[in-house]
Amino acid sequence: MKIYLNGKLVPKDKACVSVFDHGLLYGDGVFEGIRSYNNRVFMLDEHINRLYRSAHAIALEIPMTREKLADAVVKTCKANGTSDGYIRLVVTRGVGTLGLNPFNCEKPQIIIIAGNIQLYPKKLYEYGLSIVTVATVRNLSEAVSPNIKSLNYLNNILAKIEAINGGVQEAIMLNAQGFVAEATGDNVFIVKGKTLLTPPACAGSLEGITRDVVMTLARQNGYEVRESMMTRYDLYNADEMFLTGTAAEVISVVNMDRRRIGDGKPGKVTKELARKFTLFARSVGRQIR
Ligand code: PMP
Repeated sequence: MKIYLNGKLVPKDKACVSVFDHGLLYGDGVFEGIRSYNNRVFMLDEHINRLYRSAHAIALEIPMTREKLADAVVKTCKANGTSDGYIRLVVTRGVGTLGLNPFNCEKPQIIIIAGNIQLYPKKLYEYGLSIVTVATVRNLSEAVSPNIKSLNYLNNILAKIEAINGGVQEAIMLNAQGFVAEATGDNVFIVKGKTLLTPPACAGSLEGITRDVVMTLARQNGYEVRESMMTRYDLYNADEMFLTGTAAEVISVVNMDRRRIGDGKPGKVTKELARKFTLFARSVGRQIR
């Protein structure tokens, strides 16, 4: 495996960063998770643009143009023979002193890993996920915008621990007002008749790129799609529920807090959108080879 590290492709065991990197010391940095399908990088420009927005929001200047960084992602995939894969693009604040001040850091570190991911076991894609609401409140969006994809995922990790302790794979996180925000690394949707609802960013959810694709596909296929504040009651009484994310793709939720969702099986609309998503994902994107 070859890792892209600051302009060079280096073997995996030589791809190291300093213990003084603020990415490690403070979670000070930003990242993207990107998929490739069928020898193409899916939604590359959208991921690159979101990375630059996250970086700008934390006053981190990525020492590279968007075009060159996108080229570096493709180059890393090529060097690793990636066709269907999962790419992690990371920009850390860089090496600094032991104080917080990010402006003492020398230079951001740019890392690209072209690997693989399996977020949930395969059979859950067939039968659907069971999830629980957790006590860990989603970070206040007024304090840390959920749209900053930062290297500090403790809020999400604490929720994930609770889900696993509860014997399930995934958690629904609520915001401080008790409205549904998102899952630990995925967006949440419900289906009510011909309408799809998903929480807005101000509820504490990242404006996911998969979420965006699914909203577009749903509209093209005759569904109404709206952003809406929701409580758990709305989720319990949905016809269908599903999660979206780059790593998760589209996965049905069939049980939440021991309430059956719909008829307890992956729903028709979810299955239709998952199928459309797969077809779309395999047909667009920046060619690797
Ligand atoms: N929410 C969170 C907290 C995430 O980390 C992710 C994964 N990046 C998502 C939602 C889904 O976003 P996307 O579809 O862009 O991967």
